[in-house]
Amino acid sequence: MIKKEKELKKKKVFQLVKGMKDILPEDQRYWDFVKKIVDQLALSHGFSKIETPLVEFTDLFVRTTGQTSDIVTKEMYSFIDQGGDHLALRPENTPGVVRAYLEHGFCNLPQPVKLFYFGPMFRHDKPQAGRFRQFWQFGFEVIGEKDAVMDAQVILLAYKIYQSVNLPSTIQINSIGCLSCRPAYEAELKDYLKKYKNKLSELSQERLSKNLLRILDSKEPEDLPIIVDAPQQIDFLCEDCRNHFMQVLEYLDELEVPYALNPTIVRGLDYYNRTTFEVWLLDEETSRQNALGGGGRYDGLAEVLGGQATPAVGFAGGVERLISQIKEKDLKVPESLKYEIFLAELGMEARKKALGLFENLVEAGIKVAENFSKSGLKPQLEMADRLGVKFTAILGQKEIVDNTLMIRDMENGIQEVVDFNKAVGEIKKRLEKSIVKDE
Ligand code: AMP
Repeated sequence: MIKKEKELKKKKVFQLVKGMKDILPEDQRYWDFVKKIVDQLALSHGFSKIETPLVEFTDLFVRTTGQTSDIVTKEMYSFIDQGGDHLALRPENTPGVVRAYLEHGFCNLPQPVKLFYFGPMFRHDKPQAGRFRQFWQFGFEVIGEKDAVMDAQVILLAYKIYQSVNLPSTIQINSIGCLSCRPAYEAELKDYLKKYKNKLSELSQERLSKNLLRILDSKEPEDLPIIVDAPQQIDFLCEDCRNHFMQVLEYLDELEVPYALNPTIVRGLDYYNRTTFEVWLLDEETSRQNALGGGGRYDGLAEVLGGQATPAVGFAGGVERLISQIKEKDLKVPESLKYEIFLAELGMEARKKALGLFENLVEAGIKVAENFSKSGLKPQLEMADRLGVKFTAILGQKEIVDNTLMIRDMENGIQEVVDFNKAVGEIKKRLEKSIVKDE
């Protein structure tokens, strides 16, 4: 048999697709925690939850995120379906949310409409530490208001997410102006960068004609000294953009949100205008690679999708990146479900009765664990130990004959026998007493 056939015959154990990741049971508490914080903060600030499909028309992203953006040119999972439609797995959620806003006539509601989301995105990114091809984002979008107060509220909300988990962060903020003031800046920037054309990285040389602003957020070491002295958009803002930006900063000062003006925050997507910002870890200010999230104003997006001109501002944060920081810094996260009592049984008759008792305990709101598939008492008691329950209830042959239940206090080993018919009440009583003792 030739080598290839042999290899094919070898039993293949399937593996994850590159760049994908399982969220395992032991990690669920982190996800629940982050989701809860996002839900609570968003709802308390007047945002309503929206869930848009994972699949949209490819064109939705091409027209908004941009034909020159990395996301669209290199990273989009796009395909033609059986009906011939050109579709894509969403690489980000803002275009989908604005599509939904337009499609469902949200422009007829009192403005602005504040929406938030929490869900998976897909980008065929280079897999590396902290970068996945399916990753989760939460995000806030305020659609239908141009006032700077909304930029400030979105930034505050983003900042508060990280504050609530005790992760020190800072806002890096910039304004990239609007269609009327950006061209003059871009012309100046281009003239400046052209002077250094041969010294720029290959990628930046390419961007010189395609995606000029992106050169400013290059991570290539040879670009950095050139970028430092590049002209800054802030010096070219028109009066409206300048006033708007000053107001955003004033609101942030008032709210005591720490920020740093950073002329290199350009975000790289076509739809942004005016405010652009990222949230960085406080202790890694120099590393934009580790941005926890980013956002900005996108006043022109709705119009590109065929709607009325509708000013808007938003933020998206990476869930995996936040969770990895929570783990790395050992920040406090609630334990997952903590069992209070373990129900052990011995013998067929006891198991039958235990099944019913288990359901009664669950219905009474008691956090009860079991291991009914194990026949010996020993493995069951070992599991009870492992779970760290306060009590173990044991139904053995003697208890079946006497119609009783044995309750063992796991802390002091004291065992008491109670009437089986009163088991739920007796267990509840003991749990309540033990909570009072703990307090
Ligand atoms: P972006 O809009 O591309 O700046 O993404 C916002 C946030 O999403 C980033 O700051 C990251 O926290 C997260 N993010 C983006 N791409 C990925 C990825 N490929 N894997 C994991 N997280 C990501």
